[in-house]
Formats: sequence, C-alpha cells, structure tokens
Amino acid sequence: MKRFKSIKFLIWFGTFFISFAGFYAAILLSLFIFYNMTSKQFDVTSKIISDNLNKSILEIMNKDFKQGELKRFVTEFDGSRFSYPYKLEIFGVNPDSKKFRWYGVDDFPKRVYESGDSIKDRNKTEISYGYPIKLTENCMKCHSNERIGDILAVLTIKYDISHFLLDYNREMLKYFIMLFPLPLIFAFFVSGYINRKLNSKFTKISGIVENINSLKDLKRVELEKIDLGFEEFSRLADNILILSDRIRNIAVDKSILEFEIKILDKFIITSEIIKDWKENVKNILQEVNSIIEAYAIFSLFRVDNEVLSLEIFWIKKPSIKTVEITEKYIKSEIIQSSQIFSDVTDLRMEHSVCNSSEYLKELTEEDIAIQTKSLILDAPKIGGVVGIGLQSQIAGDKVNGIIIEGILATLMNVVGSVKAISKYTKQLEYYTTRDPLTNLFNQRVFWEMLSYEVGRAGRKDQKFAIILIDIDNFKNINDTYGHITGDYIIAELSGIIRQNLRKGDILARYSGDQFVAILPEAGEEQAYSISERIRESAMMYSFYSNDGKSIKITLSIGISIYPVHGDNSKDLFIFADNLLKRAKDEGKNRVVIPKDHDVFEFFKAISDKTILVTKAVNEKRIIPYFQPIMNNSNKEIEFCEVLSRIDTQDGIINAHDFIEIAEKIGVISKLDLILLENAIIEVLKS
Ligand code: GH3
Ligand code: MG
Repeated sequence: MKRFKSIKFLIWFGTFFISFAGFYAAILLSLFIFYNMTSKQFDVTSKIISDNLNKSILEIMNKDFKQGELKRFVTEFDGSRFSYPYKLEIFGVNPDSKKFRWYGVDDFPKRVYESGDSIKDRNKTEISYGYPIKLTENCMKCHSNERIGDILAVLTIKYDISHFLLDYNREMLKYFIMLFPLPLIFAFFVSGYINRKLNSKFTKISGIVENINSLKDLKRVELEKIDLGFEEFSRLADNILILSDRIRNIAVDKSILEFEIKILDKFIITSEIIKDWKENVKNILQEVNSIIEAYAIFSLFRVDNEVLSLEIFWIKKPSIKTVEITEKYIKSEIIQSSQIFSDVTDLRMEHSVCNSSEYLKELTEEDIAIQTKSLILDAPKIGGVVGIGLQSQIAGDKVNGIIIEGILATLMNVVGSVKAISKYTKQLEYYTTRDPLTNLFNQRVFWEMLSYEVGRAGRKDQKFAIILIDIDNFKNINDTYGHITGDYIIAELSGIIRQNLRKGDILARYSGDQFVAILPEAGEEQAYSISERIRESAMMYSFYSNDGKSIKITLSIGISIYPVHGDNSKDLFIFADNLLKRAKDEGKNRVVIPKDHDVFEFFKAISDKTILVTKAVNEKRIIPYFQPIMNNSNKEIEFCEVLSRIDTQDGIINAHDFIEIAEKIGVISKLDLILLENAIIEVLKS
C-alpha cells in the first residue's frame, strides 16, 4: 500500500508555515509603517531646516551683505563638517557672463536654476532641497546693472538618509533573529493541540472499524450513536454507516454461508427422509435456531383433492393460546388468501414439538410474522406452502431475509419432494398393481389374490369360483373399428362386469380381451348365475364406434371351483381356461360350467400331457417351426420366428397345448434350450 505523509506532519508543517508567515508578515508590515512614518517625519524635519536655512541666507543678504559673507555662512552651516547627515552648497551665477556654474554630474542645482523655483528631490540615499536666490531691491545697491528677480545663486541642501536605512535594516535583522523561535513554538503548541483532538476522534473511528469482524458487528455500527465533534468526521462516520449498510445488503456472513451449506445437505432426499420426513423437518428447525430464532416451521399441503393438511413443527412446547393464534393466522393469512387452496373444504391439523421439555414464550398477534414459499406442481399434481414463523422484529432484518429465503427453499425442497415422491410412489404402486386402461387389478395381482384366496378358503374350508371371460371375435372389432374403439369397449366392458359382481369379488384384466374374477365363497351355481348375468348384460349393451355406429359384442366364459376343480392356483386357472376354450369351440357366446366327468377328463389330460412333455424334453423332441417375417416395404423375408412343437406318433402338437404344462412341471427353460439347439442345427443344415 502506498504510504502518504502523515496528517500530523501536515498539520505541524501547516501551522508552522502559517504562524511563521503571519508573524513575519505582521513584523514586516509594522516595520514598513514605521519606516514610512519615520521617513515622512524626516521629510518634514529636513524641510523645516532647509526652509529656515534659506530664510536665514535671504535675511543675511537683505541686511548689510558683504561679498564673501554668504560663502562663510554656507561653510559654517554645512553639516558635513560636524558629521551631521546634511550638506549645504551654494552655486553662483557669473554676473558678467550671466552664466550658471556648477560642478560634478549632479544636475540638481541646474534644474533648480532653470525652474526658477524651490524644488525637492529624493532618491534611495538622499533628500535634496534646492532654492534659487533671487535679486531683491536691497541687492540693487551692488547689482545695479541687473534686474529685480534675477537669480544670483542656487542653494542646495542634501540630507543623507543611507545611514538611517542601514540602521533600519540592521534593526530589522535583529528582530528577525530574535523572534525566529516564536512561530516555531506557536506551531508546536497549536499543532499538538489539534493533533490530540483529531487523534481521539480517529481512535474512536478506527476502534469502531477494527471491531467489525462479522455482519452482526456491522449491525452494531448502525446502532452506535457516534458523536465525533467535527462536522467532517460526522460526515465520515455517516459514510461509514452508509457503507456498512450497503455491505450488509450484499455481503454474506461466513457463518451464514456455513449454515446454508449445512442446510443444503438436507437437499438429499433419501428413502430414510421420505419415511421419516417429520423428523427431518424437526432437525432443520433446530439447525435454523442455531442461527436465527424461529419458533415454528409449517407445511400446508393438499393430501387428497379437497383435504388440506397443516403440520406445524414447534421448537418448544407452545401454549394453547399461542397455538390458537398461530392457527388463526395461518388460516386467515395463508389458506384464505392463497389461490392454491381456494376449493379446499377440509383442514387437518397436526402439531409436533422438537424440545417438548421446554416451554415456548407466549406469542401475541403482534409477534407473529410468517414468511412463506409456495409450490405448485403439475405432475404429480401437488400444491402447497411451507412457512417459517419468526418474531416480527427478526423477520424485518434484510440479512435474515436472505437466510430465511434459503431455509424456505430447503424446506420446500424437502417437504415438496417428500410429498411429490410419496404421491408419485403411490401412483407407481397403483399402476404396478393396476391395468391403466380399465383401472382393474392386473395379472400379477390376480395371481397373488388367487393364491391368497386358495389359502384363505382352504383354512376356512370354503369354496370359491374363478370365472374367465373372453370377448368373442375381438380381433374383428379391432380390425373394423380400430384400436381406439377396441380400447373403449374393453374399458366399458370392465364396468359392465363390475356391476354384475358382488361386493368383495375380485376382478382383474388378465390379458388383451380377457378378464378374470375371483368370487369368494361362491359355488358352481352362484358362479354360473353371475357369469350368465355378465354375458347377458354385455350382449344387451350397445357400444358405439367413433363414427357413431352401434357395436354389439358377445362373451365366452369358463368357470372353475375351488377345491372341486383344483386345490392350487395354476390348476384352477388352467381348468377355467379349458372350459373357456370349450365355450369357444361350442360356438362362443356362452358360459361353460364343468360337469363331473370334465374333472376326470381334465386331470387325465393333464397327466397325459405331463407324461408327453417330460418324454419329449428327455428325448429332445422339441421341433422348431420357422415362421417367416416379411418386410412389408420390399416384400422380402428378413427374419423368422421360431415356434416350438412336439412331434408325436399321433402328429404334431401345438405350443398352445403343452406350454402351460411345461411351465407347471418346471421344464420350460430346458424346453427353450432344446428348441434353440434344434433350431441352430436346422439352420446349419440348410
Ligand atoms: P376369440 O373369439 O377366439 O377370442 O377371437 P378373438 O378375435 O377375440 O381373438 P383373441 O381373443 O385370441 O385375441 C384377442 C385380441 O384382442 C388380440 C388383439 O388384437 C386384441 N387386443 C389385445 N389387447 C388389446 C388392447 O389392449 N386393446 C385393443 N384394442 N385390442 C387388444
Ligand atoms: Mg377373444
């Protein structure tokens, strides 16, 4: 840093210079006045003397004047003879030639002669007076051939003032030397006094500035009433205050920054936080209180469409009155004034306390200042507000404003994310169990429900029925009216089926145009009548295509009853599926209920097929059938789908007839490998 001369030195030098200059200016002025006065006095004195001398000469001449007397007089009175500082001289005019004679370079006598009058002259070293001596009547006795008024001689008196000047200068020098220390002493005392005064003010200002170590200290500067005595210092102090104010507005305190980073850590939304988000919010509130006094944090979110959940987290146990005031405030200031909650009818409130062993100071309405942040999301649809409750005076501070914004952002992130994630998870859960087109349970849930029902019915020794429903000729509908109409029919039909089921019956969409229902505690008769009702309702119903054409559908339904047709899920389903196939084979649009011999035939068929599949796998008789796949644009066969078939003495058996058995007896993977192996062998052969 560049170092400048110190103000102390400047003041000392300035004071010295001013006192020195002032002092000597005063001395010079007084000496000058004195010189002038003395000089004037000298002028007057010399004039009086000169006039008197001139008068005396004239009187001598008017009396009995003898030649040579004048010269004697002049010689007698000439001061130079007695070391007086004046010189008397007379210059005569030649009476014959009437010529004026004088000697030397000085032309003063000549000027007197030529002017014909007395004159005065002055230069640096002398004052001169010249008088022309003129002819009077008395002189006519001796100067008969001349006229009255003619100049006979010129008298000059010269006063030497060089001595006086020399004395004067010497005196002046003496005083200069004598008085020289005075301005120095003066400057020393005055500058010392000023410096002491300034120093105390400087120390005060630098003390204030040195004590600023954090933003909080800057705040203290503002509160300090600094009296600095001088206007300039007060202005400086004012500017420091303005600067501190500006710094406070733009600066971020290190501790606040650290706090913000700590708070940012809470941004990581782990599964733990989602599970225990309330604990996390409590932690945030405690963290917040290490830097700013906040008595509560709250979150206000829609739970269901019309239900609003208000959760208030208190730092300490609040009084009933404080709770009432705060709830009232949130209801009137936030819920009623927010667009997000305009259609909310129900409000659920919940309170949690961080330190339940301590009591919160009673709050009044004036104390409450709540700062909030709102969030509106479209997917998943969420709307909510988080807020922080502060004492009014804390809320007003600008630095606190920045901190609070950070806290609210974190809070919104945590609570908003938790709400969004749990809503999203719920949706995910919903769609992992549901079919999105019909909102019915999907195949996975069906199997779970079925095995649950097998267990339950087994324990309670009860019956239950499975009904498997398939739309007849649905491919045609799709082909004729398009997939969108097909989808609409599937969705509508799901409603029709549902309406004909009992409460507690389980309905699922099994696949494409197949539905399956579990009817707990239902026997054959009940299952049949329900199935018939479903079939008839669907047949009676008019579906409409996009262009308004009426579409009619029919259903085929197969039924199986636990434990009559199977004591496990797979057997029961295969049984119902077989009967559905029979319904299709018998002409569709019908419900097939098993007869006694069906059970025997079915289980015989299953055991025959089990033997057949086991044998075929063991003997590797799984034959690949290559189904060509043609590229429609160039009409070339580009791929082949490999289908599995079993070769028997009675002919080739389709996959449809043995895949389920192969899955059931656990040889399906082995079967796939054999098929693959045989397919490769075939390919290599060709
Ligand atoms: P069947 O009388 O023998 O049942 O003949 P079908 O034409 O109904 O044939 P099947 O039941 O075997 O085929 C079901 C068809 O349903 C196959 C497919 O085109 C169609 N499908 C499957 N899932 C959907 C779907 O989600 N939407 C629509 N629109 N069609 C589907
Ligand atoms: Mg069908």
